[in-house]
Amino acid sequence: MNKWEAKFGFFWYNDDELFKFSQEDFDEKAKKIADSGINIVMTFSCTHFRWTFHRYWDRILRCLEMTVKACHKHGIKVVEHHSSHLTFNPQNQEHWDYTERILHARGSSLASWEGLAETINDEIVENGKPASSFRQVDGRTGEYAWSNYNGYCMCFNNPDYREAYFKYLERVYQTGVDGIMTDDVQYFAQGHACACKHCQRLFKEDTGYELPGPGKEWEAFYGDYNNPVYIAWERFRRKSTERFQRGVNKHFKSLGLDLLRPNYVSAALNHNPTGYCFDMAADLWDWIFQENCFSTIIRVSWPSWYVESLHRYALAQRNHVPSMSLFYPDREDSYYFVWALAGSWGQMLTVTPEGYDLSSIEKKYRTFEKKYNHVYTDQQKIAPVAIMFSLDNAYYVKAQKHTGEIYTWAQGMYLSNIPVDMVFDQDPVEKLNEYSMIILPSLVMLDENQITRLRTYVEQGGRLFITGLPGIKS
Ligand SMILES: [Zn+2]
Repeated sequence: MNKWEAKFGFFWYNDDELFKFSQEDFDEKAKKIADSGINIVMTFSCTHFRWTFHRYWDRILRCLEMTVKACHKHGIKVVEHHSSHLTFNPQNQEHWDYTERILHARGSSLASWEGLAETINDEIVENGKPASSFRQVDGRTGEYAWSNYNGYCMCFNNPDYREAYFKYLERVYQTGVDGIMTDDVQYFAQGHACACKHCQRLFKEDTGYELPGPGKEWEAFYGDYNNPVYIAWERFRRKSTERFQRGVNKHFKSLGLDLLRPNYVSAALNHNPTGYCFDMAADLWDWIFQENCFSTIIRVSWPSWYVESLHRYALAQRNHVPSMSLFYPDREDSYYFVWALAGSWGQMLTVTPEGYDLSSIEKKYRTFEKKYNHVYTDQQKIAPVAIMFSLDNAYYVKAQKHTGEIYTWAQGMYLSNIPVDMVFDQDPVEKLNEYSMIILPSLVMLDENQITRLRTYVEQGGRLFITGLPGIKS
């Protein structure tokens, strides 16, 4: 499909779809979505934490199959989207309430699933292996890592997990989906995972270093940015999630499939303790987009989200794919506002009006976009100034000021009507030469090649606006 003509929407499958819908009901739902101008949907479901619903996989896959059938009938492509490894494991009343709350928000409840509450913490056996053996391990304790969602999480370096999950994906692909978004490919335990035996072995193989043991050894190690072993481990975690995402592509390609891979992240510029590999695996993503905050907040926080859009737009340009923004409007005025914002940021728009039906409003704007399609295809930003973003400076420098300064300068220029673009520290001189000025916001870590490129840029007439002391670390 022409990626710039994609009009994304969400297709929720919750209790109604999973337990009550007939094929006719799916058809009707798909028709309504198609009528509003949507031609590709990402699924979202109360069964997002797919491993928790392990014993109901047959039902879920049947529902997905009917969804695909209905959507294809109405010219809509389907990207299945679920959490690749997270589980709910309530240990106390607070956790139970949390689990119930999440399910409720997604049109379901514990009671909807016969036997779920009774078995939620039982061992899952998949592909002949106990799923508890797939779990991420907390480096502080040597025990199972705990996620931010009151449950456990699985390790992408665990070959048994990969095999079991990829087998599940094969069943997902058999439903006829056009794309796959394997979500939550992140390490948890507040940045202290993973120290499982597979990670220990691979880390040694990759870097030659030993991962320290739990307790005092780990305490001394964690967060010491002057320790090359620690930096190597931080990089290794990102490499691990990247390898996994590349593995997903390699696997479906080995099956003769070429699936669509949209992906999003809400904040890419800040240090992220989960080892998320969004930038490094960017060549895999068919649409590169950001998730913005809810509509009640966006009316005041839009200049801040604009800064994230600089990153997605620039990353998408490098990979010749569209960038996109996901918003949560709740009325026509908030829809109009986010529609205009996305367009002015050079991005396509996706909305998921959770709980609201905005399809008639959506139709109006989607029709406009269709009519003026040339304006919305591969928009080229005209900006004399660019800000340089560096993953190394954002992720591997203690108490870094890089990200904060990007936010400051970009918002300042935005509110002063100065168009600005983003460049990356790996960009070649030819790319830098497209701008008359480049801002280097506290780039304390620069290697010799980067310094040479910047020097050449200046010698060829470019101007640098430098804050802080650049290149004092290598
Ligand atoms: Zn591990």
